[in-house]
Amino acid sequence: MEILVIGAGVGGLAVARVLLAAGHEVRVHEQAPGPRTGGKAVLIWSNGNAVLDDLGITLEGVGNRIDRIDALTSSGRLRTGQDIAHAAARYGFETKAIARRDLLGRLAGGLPGDLVRYGMTCTGLTQHGDRVTATFDDGTADTGDLLIGADGHHSAVRRHLWGESGIRAATFGTWQGLSPIGIEITGTHRHLMITGKEGACGLMPAGGGLLQWWFDMRWTPGEPRPASPLDELRRRFGHWASPVPEVLAAATDDDIEFFGHHWNKVRKVWGEGRVTLVGDAAHTMPPTLGQGANQTLEDAWVLGRELDGKDGDPAARLRAYERARYPQISLVSRMARRNPANWRIPPLIGRLIPETSQSGMLARFSNRLAVQSP
Ligand SMILES: Cc1cc2nc3c(=O)[nH]c(=O)nc-3n(C[C@H](O)[C@H](O)[C@H](O)COP(=O)(O)OP(=O)(O)OC[C@H]3O[C@@H](n4cnc5c(N)ncnc54)[C@H](O)[C@@H]3O)c2cc1C
Repeated sequence: MEILVIGAGVGGLAVARVLLAAGHEVRVHEQAPGPRTGGKAVLIWSNGNAVLDDLGITLEGVGNRIDRIDALTSSGRLRTGQDIAHAAARYGFETKAIARRDLLGRLAGGLPGDLVRYGMTCTGLTQHGDRVTATFDDGTADTGDLLIGADGHHSAVRRHLWGESGIRAATFGTWQGLSPIGIEITGTHRHLMITGKEGACGLMPAGGGLLQWWFDMRWTPGEPRPASPLDELRRRFGHWASPVPEVLAAATDDDIEFFGHHWNKVRKVWGEGRVTLVGDAAHTMPPTLGQGANQTLEDAWVLGRELDGKDGDPAARLRAYERARYPQISLVSRMARRNPANWRIPPLIGRLIPETSQSGMLARFSNRLAVQSP
């Protein structure tokens, strides 16, 4: 089949790979003028890494393995500790922090050079008989047998399917950076999640001397941004226990970017006819669990299986993909709405439950989040 993909982010490139491997003709249209080189780091959990492996992609040589996630109070006391290496050993795939540009680079590796058409902003689509036509802001159009909307959390394809009502602002926003900060945590395999009444701070060593850091604070759309975000972060979080002050001292205004959290209720059927969605277009969620890109990779994997040599109506295959993804993705999405700043597990509870039990619980929970191979 001739398949159009809108968006060349994590989902669009992963979908293109699986569909090309299944023998389809694929054309990807991306609004950006060229491949993305910026962005901060993301956490690829065992489930995402397993999908990448199935797509023939290795994360060898990029990013940093994460073996533990420790949740701390703002005064530096341990709330809970989780041994991520335990899940990696059980499922055979490491959890890695990796710069988004490296992930996109690996996803694009080996794809035909002319697969992605850059500078193409999709503005609308029409379905006519067995064909779908996408239109673009330069007045051109492209027609195929199926269309996959992989155009992220402001998706034009979703807007066409659902109208304007789909997506809502959540209550937190993130200030984040990926910076060369030479403190002890940067050289480790330990991810810290620190919470207090002012909000939450995450610190994740991303390899190559880089530390991914972020601060979550309450946010409402349209509220004015501080003149100097870093001064505001230092005022709010500067009194927290080490290493937060060291991170805030080393960060610069050039490193920092803001992202307001958004969320949509996942629909049981999110496509229509010969059009479907993958990734944030179908399930935008706050970055709380670090699962957005991982779940997007799972979408691509399941969609690829539905469109790989199976007979029958292609529209029915798209609905089968949505049905298969709904149970996991609606669970993940609901859980991601709860910001870490509201987790606040008392340190005593963390100490009462042995770490081996916590790690076992995490491994079982990760298994529930991941799609099961038939
Ligand atoms: C602060 C933050 C931290 C995160 N951390 C993690 C993490 O640790 N782990 C994790 O798994 N996930 C994380 N995520 C979530 C993850 O980034 C997303 O879930 C993932 O990128 C979704 O992939 P996607 O392909 O759906 O969208 P995107 O990667 O956003 O790609 C969408 C693409 O579509 C293009 N596009 C948009 N509109 C159009 C149009 N009209 N026409 C053509 N092209 C268009 C865009 O330019 C873009 O290239 C984080 C997100 C944020 C904001």
